[in-house]
Amino acid sequence: MANNAAKPQFAHIPHPAPTSDADRAAVLANPGFGTQFTDHMVTVDWKEGEGWHNATVGPRQPIPLDPAASVLHYAQEIFEGLKAYRHPDGSTALFRPEQNAQRFNRSADRLAMPNIPEDMFLAAIDALLEVDGNWIPDGAGASLYLRPFMFADEAFLGVRPAKSYKFIVIASPAGNYFKSGAPAVSIWVSSDYTRAAPGGTGAAKCGGNYAASLVPQAEAIERGYDQVVFLDAVERKWIEELGGMNLFFVFDDGRVVTPPLSGTILPGITRDSLIDLLREEGLNVVEERYSIDQWQADAESGKLVECFACGTAAVVTPVGRVVGRDRDFTVGSGGPGQITGKLKAKLTGIQRGEVEDTHDWVRRV
Ligand code: PMP
Repeated sequence: MANNAAKPQFAHIPHPAPTSDADRAAVLANPGFGTQFTDHMVTVDWKEGEGWHNATVGPRQPIPLDPAASVLHYAQEIFEGLKAYRHPDGSTALFRPEQNAQRFNRSADRLAMPNIPEDMFLAAIDALLEVDGNWIPDGAGASLYLRPFMFADEAFLGVRPAKSYKFIVIASPAGNYFKSGAPAVSIWVSSDYTRAAPGGTGAAKCGGNYAASLVPQAEAIERGYDQVVFLDAVERKWIEELGGMNLFFVFDDGRVVTPPLSGTILPGITRDSLIDLLREEGLNVVEERYSIDQWQADAESGKLVECFACGTAAVVTPVGRVVGRDRDFTVGSGGPGQITGKLKAKLTGIQRGEVEDTHDWVRRV
């Protein structure tokens, strides 16, 4: 955005009954993940012929929706996830939010939805943090999770792109993503289900991808594992990603493999950042296909020393045991490895303002 461009403005609707300081403190003391929400939300409307209009920040409340709203029938919906951190100097910071704005618009393109100007996406987040900044929890691993999303609200039945949409941002104070706080997650290899096919929507962050992942994820949980790993939809052998995280494999010779951005996995912002951090550590990161059989063989031979999953919600999480039909193996010690631990400390240090941000990734609000 040019410096002299006007910052998008959001009309402020006062909250009639904001949460009391005592009730908010109780939430922040034990935020959990994804179940508690702040007092406000930002909304902006889009209509064919009018473009973006009606930008407000006001009380968080239910959204009136016509039963024929096309999102309810044809699932035109996309979203993002990012976190606001409280820095030691008291300031509020975001991690590479412009990357979320750009990915949001790539998702919008794939779902035949309008783009939102990057400065409006960022200003919407700023506007929400201005009124709900006191909802950022302190403490290790805690942050305020921000959820921008857009859906088709035009009332019609018929398969075509809608002519009106709503963009909304809500926020949820968050602690650790994994309830168990386990040192490593266990993984179920899905052989019955895939997540995304070539030419499909795998690289878009649309709700439908996650709806389709629920049965395989439930299968993993039922069998006693934390997460499902998806294989490619064509050969059913190449490792893709988890339901909400990208994967990295660390070898004893300093090589690190992560699946390539083939169009069927989500281009994670954590993934992209970790590639840079790993290369700075002198590791040889390659983006190439890696098969499930090779994963097992390398874990069993000891060539593969660490494996971790990464994403905004789960940050950097070691993968221990991997189980599938006719396979059961453990990576390295089954617990957090040295490189995984070092990488997590560096990334979270940058995000939290405790390690120098030499990449210009942190954006103060
Ligand atoms: N893959 C999927 C399917 C996801 O939902 C996410 C979370 N956005 C990720 C990977 C990790 O992406 P990021 O690092 O940008 O959070």
